[in-house]
Amino acid sequence: MRRNIAAGNWKMNTTVSEGVELIKELEKQSIPSDVEMIICAPATHLSSLVGCGEIQIGGQNIYMQDKGAFTGEISPLMLVDLGVEYVLVGHSERRELFSEDDQILAQKLNKALEHNLKPIFCFGEPLNIRKEGSHISYVQKQLENGLFHLSEEELGDVVLAYEPIWAIGTGETASPDQAQEMHASIRKSIENKYGKVAADNISILYGGSVKPTNAEEIFAKPDVDGGLVGGASLDAEGFGKIANSF
Ligand code: PEP
Repeated sequence: MRRNIAAGNWKMNTTVSEGVELIKELEKQSIPSDVEMIICAPATHLSSLVGCGEIQIGGQNIYMQDKGAFTGEISPLMLVDLGVEYVLVGHSERRELFSEDDQILAQKLNKALEHNLKPIFCFGEPLNIRKEGSHISYVQKQLENGLFHLSEEELGDVVLAYEPIWAIGTGETASPDQAQEMHASIRKSIENKYGKVAADNISILYGGSVKPTNAEEIFAKPDVDGGLVGGASLDAEGFGKIANSF
């Protein structure tokens, strides 16, 4: 079901004790009842964060096998066992730094869904693609290759996050109109593939230097259902303001 979401991605930041302090501070923020707050934390933190309060907890990665000789990887079963609800799949840092391609990501989506983890599926174009003006078709391809093998029922458990790579961690944000143009196009693609009900029901988040100062104008756009927030989710008060920007 389409809903307003403020999702934080702590990336590889905070120790466990710092993370616990931060989640306690976040729990003190007043969050509107129609906004879901999710924190995607490092794997080492998850068992300490689940059950701390109302905030939903997500992992940042899973492997596409249940178990076996995959040193250093995280099984979806391990996240489920901890009570984790969500998992990021396809973050641009995983795509770029860890060579996760559409094929791998499609398998990770399948694995997450098989075990009832809700994937937050991330995608978005690099700067050169934006500059040459082919960002819409680039993102369409990412959806076709990574997502469109899912059934309509499976899609119902997926949250989408459009994150233009040139805006992640750079301080440069897509303008609200740039975000809306892409989000409307994504929703149209979903409609063409899965029908209007599926398109109306899916939440599409924007990610890329969302801050307390720009969240309101981005979230005001009709096809933007919230944000996936990196740096600014490490500040409880600031992230609380973002969650109050709908
Ligand atoms: C992210 O990590 O998904 C992200 C959007 O980071 P930032 O908000 O720091 O740009």
